[in-house]
Amino acid sequence: MTTERSVDVLIVGAGISGIDAAYHLQREFPDRTFELVDRQQSFGGTWRTHKYPGIRSDSDLYTFGFSWKPWIGVPIATADEILAYLDEAIDEQDIRRHIRYRKSLVKAEWSSDSSHWAVTIHDLDTSERETVICNFMWMCQGYYRHEKGYTPDFPGMNDFAGAIVHPQEWPEDLDYHDKKVVVIGSGATAATLIPAMAQDCRHITMLQRSPTYFFARPNNNELADALAPLDLPEQWTHEIMRRKSLHDQKTITHRSFADPEGLRDDLLSTAQYYLGENYPIDPHFTPHYRPWRQRLAVVPDGDLFKSIRAGQASVVTDQIESFTHDGIQLKSGQALEADVIITATGFNMCVLGDIDFVIDGEPLDVSQCVGHRGIMYTGVPNLAWMFGYLRTSWTMRADLIAGFVCRIFQHMDDNHYEVVTPQLRAEDADMPLLPFIDEENFNAGYLMRSMHLLPKQGDREPWVFSQDYYTEKHTIAATDLEDGSLQYR
Ligand SMILES: Cc1cc2nc3c(=O)[nH]c(=O)nc-3n(C[C@H](O)[C@H](O)[C@H](O)COP(=O)(O)OP(=O)(O)OC[C@H]3O[C@@H](n4cnc5c(N)ncnc54)[C@H](O)[C@@H]3O)c2cc1C
Repeated sequence: MTTERSVDVLIVGAGISGIDAAYHLQREFPDRTFELVDRQQSFGGTWRTHKYPGIRSDSDLYTFGFSWKPWIGVPIATADEILAYLDEAIDEQDIRRHIRYRKSLVKAEWSSDSSHWAVTIHDLDTSERETVICNFMWMCQGYYRHEKGYTPDFPGMNDFAGAIVHPQEWPEDLDYHDKKVVVIGSGATAATLIPAMAQDCRHITMLQRSPTYFFARPNNNELADALAPLDLPEQWTHEIMRRKSLHDQKTITHRSFADPEGLRDDLLSTAQYYLGENYPIDPHFTPHYRPWRQRLAVVPDGDLFKSIRAGQASVVTDQIESFTHDGIQLKSGQALEADVIITATGFNMCVLGDIDFVIDGEPLDVSQCVGHRGIMYTGVPNLAWMFGYLRTSWTMRADLIAGFVCRIFQHMDDNHYEVVTPQLRAEDADMPLLPFIDEENFNAGYLMRSMHLLPKQGDREPWVFSQDYYTEKHTIAATDLEDGSLQYR
């Protein structure tokens, strides 16, 4: 059965970005109709999908939380705490009645004749399909496939007698009590899982091909503690903490370019401090890349290092030859015994929510498009993607994008436009087209594997996607909406 309805704006995804988009939209345009649609059972996106032990943020909630809702708590928060915060936000802003769950957007067809998108939505419970007509698609579907994590095809996986688990698909009944566990990977997920599981396992080993920088720091904030007795309005404290956090991040980012060796020394000596002076941080915690080329994994209160120092966890830096019946055979000749192997090996990138986009009858290949500040795409009418920061908190960019989209809506209202489409201008004709994310700047594995699927960026405004909050907070806000790069109709 197919039914048809219409809304002004369709928001894809009810994670932190979708909720942010809904907040800004209804605050700026209370008369616009909108709906958030999500495949999952409930709101929260990433924080609903991931259920592995210890799951927590790796950036502070002053900046990962919304600008418009104070975060009261320790900087690094658990998934449950983030979900509770989002739950409150949805109620306070009366967003709940706009969200529809267990609905998957499968196709979106743009018609220039009618100036609207016809979106096919599949109901995951009843298998019914409906068409929603909308003028604007606000893509808040994140950047990775929620259904399945990325596991490389290791030789011999079928021979292993124990359980192989990807953290993104954590079985509720996984028994690891008194078991030998190997975690493959050394990113934020491994750094979270290991201290959370270490006390219950017989032993847990982090097996890494190459090391990661970890940023150990106490999970409290002296400034927040100092402000507490002053009885300030919560919004003031939130704003001060947010600025402090941004200032600290800016200092680290700046040092990663201006003084990479000094920053590296600081990170390594903190690790050494927590691990004890006899621990061989080389090779286990001495990466070969410049700090910040991948997200710096925060280790609150040094918990990962404490588990290692206590002998509950250990690190092996080596390469996998194959899985065996009893564990993992390494290239060095060493064998690791395991009852459970956890593949903390990352995500599968997902561009535009696995939706089939069609524009005036032609299938859209977004990898051939150029991003307008990495928000809208050449030749794609009335669509914006909330692609946040990979280094600074994601939500800082979501807020900038929300402001940008609302400005465009206002501009279109003022001029009676119905359609906005980014187009390269005559002066952009010979512009070199570059990868969406500059590999020199940020080179996480999931991005490198999927760069060919992502749109391109250019070498000049407004086609640059710098991933730099401190630049974009000025450039996005100051975008000239009539510079010819946005075509209106
Ligand atoms: C374990 C983990 C920890 C992280 N920690 C941090 C952190 O501390 N700081 C930080 O800045 N970033 C972090 N990130 C990155 C994080 O994903 C983003 O910051 C942020 O949560 C993304 O929010 P989002 O709402 O844009 O997307 P998501 O959280 O990915 O939510 C997107 C939603 O859209 C839905 N959806 C997608 N496609 C469709 C479709 N076709 N139809 C219907 N619904 C659809 C999905 O079901 C999902 O619920 C982390 C990521 C992971 C995996």
